[in-house]
Amino acid sequence: MSPADLDLARQRLHDRRRALLARYHRTLDLVDEELDSREIEDVDTSSEQWDAQVLTALSVADRRHAEAIGAALERVAAGSYGRCVRCGAVIDDARLAALPEAPTCIGCALETDEAPLPRAP
Ligand SMILES: [Zn+2]
Repeated sequence: MSPADLDLARQRLHDRRRALLARYHRTLDLVDEELDSREIEDVDTSSEQWDAQVLTALSVADRRHAEAIGAALERVAAGSYGRCVRCGAVIDDARLAALPEAPTCIGCALETDEAPLPRAP
């Protein structure tokens, strides 16, 4: 995968995570009011601190999705993005286009009968 492709993948993953977490903006505000001890000046930033707080407010399914995106970002950083974590095969471009956080090739996904990841809104 070319550096340009990786940059694009990283950007798409960040966008998806932001979209996912933004849905919890309101929940976070409520949590924040309750605790009244946090300093969140700009929730539009994707700071790790904010992410960590929002993650605690996510539903199980959304948390799993956010973790899948985080894991994909780690694979981008590690240079293994685009390869199946199970068999090592190159993941099909179309699959990554539809699901940039996909950890496995379609063959492994079907074999392991993994729960389909929820779609971003
Ligand atoms: Zn595979």
